[in-house]
Amino acid sequence: MTGISRPLLDWYCENRRVLPFREDPVPYHVWVSEMMLQQTQMATVLPYYRRFLAALPDIAALAACGEETLHKLWEGLGYYSRARNLQKAAVVVMQKYGGHLPADYDALLSLPGIGPYTAGAIASIAFGLPCPAVDGNVLRVAARLLADGRDVALPATKQALTDFVRREMPQNAPGDYNQALMELGALVCVPPAPRCGVCPLAALCAGYGQGVAAALPVKAPARAKAEEQYTVLVVRAPGTDGADSLVLLQKRPAGGLLAGLWQPLLLPGRMAASAAQAQLAALLPGAALGEKLPATRHVFTHKIWRMTGWLCSAPPGAKAPPGCVWAAPRQVRQAYTLPGAFKAYLQYFL
Ligand code: SF4
Repeated sequence: MTGISRPLLDWYCENRRVLPFREDPVPYHVWVSEMMLQQTQMATVLPYYRRFLAALPDIAALAACGEETLHKLWEGLGYYSRARNLQKAAVVVMQKYGGHLPADYDALLSLPGIGPYTAGAIASIAFGLPCPAVDGNVLRVAARLLADGRDVALPATKQALTDFVRREMPQNAPGDYNQALMELGALVCVPPAPRCGVCPLAALCAGYGQGVAAALPVKAPARAKAEEQYTVLVVRAPGTDGADSLVLLQKRPAGGLLAGLWQPLLLPGRMAASAAQAQLAALLPGAALGEKLPATRHVFTHKIWRMTGWLCSAPPGAKAPPGCVWAAPRQVRQAYTLPGAFKAYLQYFL
């Protein structure tokens, strides 16, 4: 197939959504938006994007930002490794590239958190380089255009679809072309039912022509996620000044899932009350289990946490166990970031 770029670009010109990082494709802005848009919907991202750039207006500010501030700016977006990678990469850009993102696909790809899609998006949108940017939306559009019935998760299929996108790319408008494919995937060639009746590429689309578009792309069934059980202890103590009560926060390890974020006391396994009481007393002498907390679950990319536990009370002046702090509700709101996994328990912190 040849010739998708002209009708696609004409359609994009008429139908594209006005977005801040499109109107002003500064490399840093494109980078931040692309990182936020991985795993998160556009409508959710926009207020975060504006707040993030207001607080960290350039790469130097991002590189110098403290961990707690960074997490707070990302709070609610999830997948916090994206924020940590942004900052790690900002440090590298300051050290190696004088504070400017490199206008080079391979150099972009070498930065923490930047994979082939993000490197292609920044290279094409911010620097006008002829690099494909193939995300899930674009894979779906390309698989339907070619009526490609192979599993899109297979590297060979991805490569073939990326080669197609590259072949069709107009050399004078690679950024608009990539964004037009993404926009078509977001607005017209949507899962599960493509809107072929209003698609500018319908006459060129093999999937539509053969009546198989809605069945594409083919994806192998996802593997069942592993489940883990946890016991949550939300521990509160009277404030020493008699005002707000304090809540115990535990910092997660510096690496791995939810690295560096804060949580209630989290004990592995689903514990009976007697076992939980014994562990609590060992960590905080004089503390006691109280009201039972509701059971909840949180679904991560590769696993599911199932949690239940207790609201607990500790005596005034109790010493926080190692790795924990006592925080007032105001501090929880302003300074400490709790991941969405504990959303069901947030009311007990505030
Ligand atoms: Fe997608 Fe339908 Fe357009 Fe083909 S014709 S690209 S299936 S919306």
